[in-house]
Amino acid sequence: MLATLSIVGTPIGNLEDITLRAIRVLGEADVILCEDTRMTKKLLAKYEIATPTMSYHMHSKIAKVEKIFALFEEGKNVALVSDAGTPGISDPGSLLVSQIREKFGAEVTIVTIPGPSALTAVLSIAGLPVTEFTFLGFLPHKKGRETLFKEIALSKRTMVFYESPHRVIKSLESLAKVLAPERKIIIGRELTKIFEEVAIGSAGELISRFTEHPDTLRGEFVVIIEALN
Ligand code: SAM
Repeated sequence: MLATLSIVGTPIGNLEDITLRAIRVLGEADVILCEDTRMTKKLLAKYEIATPTMSYHMHSKIAKVEKIFALFEEGKNVALVSDAGTPGISDPGSLLVSQIREKFGAEVTIVTIPGPSALTAVLSIAGLPVTEFTFLGFLPHKKGRETLFKEIALSKRTMVFYESPHRVIKSLESLAKVLAPERKIIIGRELTKIFEEVAIGSAGELISRFTEHPDTLRGEFVVIIEALN
């Protein structure tokens, strides 16, 4: 059999942010598993990659998972991409990796084709010590949320989380309640895209900034909180 699953990092916005190896691997694969085939097709069109695609996401039905398993049983060379960045970082990629490992063990070679991630992109411009940091992914909407904000307030490590445009003010309001005003927050919005911006300030300053310019409450956000000194 000897099938391969390549986990391929793709751009987080700017389609030029892709490695030569990623382009080659996507071109040579028998099938590309995508979170959203329409998103991935834009990338494939730019690099004239004609590899067939198949959708794979958190809610894939058993029948779809069986179809994916069949690819590996046939010894296919499969690539996995997510909508943006590195599969497995707060997206369904890690679920597939664990399913494939559990079912096929060493019969499927799983390789990483590293590339961009919103996490490393924002940390690279933060100008904060990131020898140690804690990544929280998306924050819980209800259970454990308040406790988490209290933990963030006491953290001696830089903290990072992903946020949606609809919830960013709510999160800043929760942060304003628990953080001293001198604790710096850095928000990376639409990184690598046309409306890329980096907003820096206290929770209160950032709330004012975003509410005064509601047009900037769109797109994709990553939030960093400076460690407690
Ligand atoms: N796997 C991806 C990665 O490696 O970054 C992350 C997937 S997660 C489902 C999507 C979240 O990542 C978005 O809601 C946003 O918080 C963050 N994100 C992705 N692209 C971004 C960008 N260009 N600028 C800022 N945040 C981004």
